[in-house]
Amino acid sequence: MNANKLQTGSVVGAGTMGNGIAHVLALAGIDVTLIDESADALEAARAKIEKNLSRQIAKNRLEAAEARAALDRIATATDLSAAASAGVVVEAVPENRDLKLAIFSRLGELCADTTVLASNTSSISITEIATAVPMPGRFIGMHFMNPVPLMELVEVIRGLDTDDETVVFTLDLCRRLGKTPVEVNDYPGFVSNRILMPMINEAVYCLMEGVAEAEAIDAVMKLGMNHPMGPLALADLIGLDTCLFIMRVLHRDLGDGKYRPCPLLAKYVAAGRLGRKSGRGFYDYSDA
Ligand code: NAD
Repeated sequence: MNANKLQTGSVVGAGTMGNGIAHVLALAGIDVTLIDESADALEAARAKIEKNLSRQIAKNRLEAAEARAALDRIATATDLSAAASAGVVVEAVPENRDLKLAIFSRLGELCADTTVLASNTSSISITEIATAVPMPGRFIGMHFMNPVPLMELVEVIRGLDTDDETVVFTLDLCRRLGKTPVEVNDYPGFVSNRILMPMINEAVYCLMEGVAEAEAIDAVMKLGMNHPMGPLALADLIGLDTCLFIMRVLHRDLGDGKYRPCPLLAKYVAAGRLGRKSGRGFYDYSDA
C-alpha cells in the first residue's frame, strides 16, 4: 500500500466537501469516481469543480491543460457500487451517524480488503464508524477543511483499531495532495471542532441574547482577534446544519452542558436557513 502509486479513488457525497476532495484527488493524478445519491448534486459538483479550477488558472496557479486533465479524471455515479475498485474511498455525506454506518457497511462489502476507507466526519467517533466495516484496521478519519482546494490542513484521525500502515498511507496521501496532515486521536470533535464549534456556538448565543448584531460580532473577532473571517460568516460557509450536527455530537458524547447547541442555531436550521448553500444563514447570499 503506497499512496504515491495510488491510481484510483472514490468520494461518496458530492456536496460542499465532496466536490473539493474530488478536485484535489484528480489534480494529484488520481482517477476519481464521485458518488452521490442525487444526480443534481453531481451536476452541481462538476460545475463547482470546473469553476474552482478556472479560478486557479486565472490566479496562475494552474495550467489550463492540467485543469482539463483533472476534470477528465472525474467520473460520477449515483450508486455506491461504483466505489468497488477504488484504492481509497473518502466519505463526505451529511454528519449523521446512522447514515455513515450504513454507507460504510455497504462499502465494507463492496471494496477489497486492501482499500483504505476514510471518513471526512467533523466529529463522529472514527472508532464507532469503523465497527461497520470488516477491516477496522483500514479505517481512518481524513478531515479536510473547507474550502478543500485552498486549505492546507487535513486532520488525520486514528481510530482505536486503525493500523500503522493505514496511518502512514493516509499521511503520504495528504502530502501527495499538497496538504499538511496533522495526526490526532479519536475523541468527539477531534481537535479542530472541539475548539472551533463552541466558539461559533457562543457567537450565535451573543446574537440571540442581543449582545450585538451579526456584523458587529464578526467585526470584533476579525479586527480584535485577527481571524480571517468572523464566526457567523464562517458558520454560513460551513453550513448551519453541519454546525448543529457537530454541537449535538459534542453535547451528547462529552456529556457536558457547556456544549449545548444554541436554540437560535437550531431555529435557523429548522427554517432551512443553512448558510451559503441555501442562499441564507446569518447573512443573505441570494445575489451570490
Ligand atoms: P453537504 O450537505 O454539503 O453534502 C452532502 C452530500 O451527500 C449531498 O450532496 C447529499 O446529496 C449526499 N448524500 C446524502 N446521502 C447520501 C447517500 N446515502 N449516498 C450518497 N450521497 C449522499 O455536506 P458537507 O458540508 O459536504 O459535509 C459532508 C461531511 O463533511 C460531513 O460529515 C461534515 O461534517 C464534514 N465536513 C464538513 C465541513 C464543512 O465546512 N461543510 C468541513 C469539514 C468536514
